[in-house]
Amino acid sequence: KERDSHQPEFLQAVYEFFYSIEPVLSAHPEFIKENILGRIVEPERIIQFRVPWVTDQGEVKINRAFRVQFNSAIGPYKGGLRFHPTVDQSIVKFLGFEQIFKNSLTGLPIGGGKGGSDFDPKGKSDAEVMRFCQSLMTELQKYIGPDMDVPAGDIGVGAREIGYLYGQYKKLNGSLNGVLTGKPLLYGGSIGRTEATGYGLVYFTKAMLEDAKKSFKQQRVIVSGSGNVATYAMEKVHEYEGIVIACSDSDGYIIDEEGIDIELVKDIKENRRGRISEYVSDHPNAAYYEGNVWNHKISYDIALPCATQNEITKDAASTILENGVYAVAEGANMPTDLESTTLFQEAGVLFGPAKAANAGGVAVSALEMSQNSQRLSWTLEDVDHRLKSIMENIYKQVSETAKEYGVEGDFAAGANIAGFYKVANAMVSQGIV
Ligand code: NDP
Repeated sequence: KERDSHQPEFLQAVYEFFYSIEPVLSAHPEFIKENILGRIVEPERIIQFRVPWVTDQGEVKINRAFRVQFNSAIGPYKGGLRFHPTVDQSIVKFLGFEQIFKNSLTGLPIGGGKGGSDFDPKGKSDAEVMRFCQSLMTELQKYIGPDMDVPAGDIGVGAREIGYLYGQYKKLNGSLNGVLTGKPLLYGGSIGRTEATGYGLVYFTKAMLEDAKKSFKQQRVIVSGSGNVATYAMEKVHEYEGIVIACSDSDGYIIDEEGIDIELVKDIKENRRGRISEYVSDHPNAAYYEGNVWNHKISYDIALPCATQNEITKDAASTILENGVYAVAEGANMPTDLESTTLFQEAGVLFGPAKAANAGGVAVSALEMSQNSQRLSWTLEDVDHRLKSIMENIYKQVSETAKEYGVEGDFAAGANIAGFYKVANAMVSQGIV
């Protein structure tokens, strides 16, 4: 703890994890004897480097980039790259740590990694983003590879950025399209990857609701964010006849009682690269507010936080409960802090933790890796069918694990224990390395 005292998000992720895995440690003294906990919180490797690039005006800028290769016990490092001004070692370590257990829960052979840079793509021209991505990849390519470490997207890294990153990798190493996932379909991307995290979140939530004899039908839902995860979560909720009444960005949020117009949100975010406030020009009946959507007082049933870490802290959690919400499932990584998670669980709210609920993206990324290795492209039905069954299996795994370890209904504990158990066993069997 002292060694990492300057890394609050990482400590928070580790604390939340340790808090719930006690039952599996009591049942398996070999994990203590082999000091699995001491080993698992220490990344196998962290790479940090400078990224120099030139603006359209000819100014030389320097950003800082990271790749955390956290744990390869069950497969090559796998996890996204985040471009956001808040990215530092604490953020990439927290994300990489979570990724180990999320990847384990998918049942696929992938280890945990994460990376990113404090570069902000907002307000940059395409040419600036391209030069930045090329500079970043010139260094990063030394450390990644289809059987070694396979990055993907995350906040601020979408199809445009993945394209530029891959172009530079290819120029330096030849065509090895298994080195990145989330690629466009034209050169090795998997159909269904763009939608996978959002759809997967809703598949997981549907399974959790059905187990409690509920469904999305006619339920009022709030989704935070309006990026990749949020957009496709909203799309799937509408398909299941739920009504998404709000979504947001980092400035504010819109409330549309008629149901969010998802095509418009896509147009604003993906084509115009605009702000969610623009929504009301097309839908005058909707209202725009500044601030955090989770502080808004309005009656609804299901909350899907899909923006960023710690968007729900204690006050927001209390407001969410007063609003009558009975289910919360995390599309973003660690959007709910431990205090809020506990508040939800004590109030009997169904709570789907990120490690389990948002694992659909990385699961389809792993399917993309399989397709690249086999030189095949599966159909949408095939990929979506696999995604759905992976998410249903994850729900089953976390709910049954919680039951088995005496914490029935605590899906956060179930996810941590199930994810950890597999990785810890792999580490034990591979010796002290
Ligand atoms: P995007 O960049 O596509 O979208 C992020 C959205 O969240 C934007 O609407 C953004 O608003 C908003 N946001 C970002 N930072 C903040 C903030 N500090 N306060 C409020 N809103 C904010 O990212 P993704 O949709 O890909 O990722 C969202 C979350 O999901 C992240 O936690 C990510 O780690 C997680 N995730 C993503 C996966 C994927 O496949 N993409 C897989 C698993 C998890 P603005 O435009 O104003 O910044």
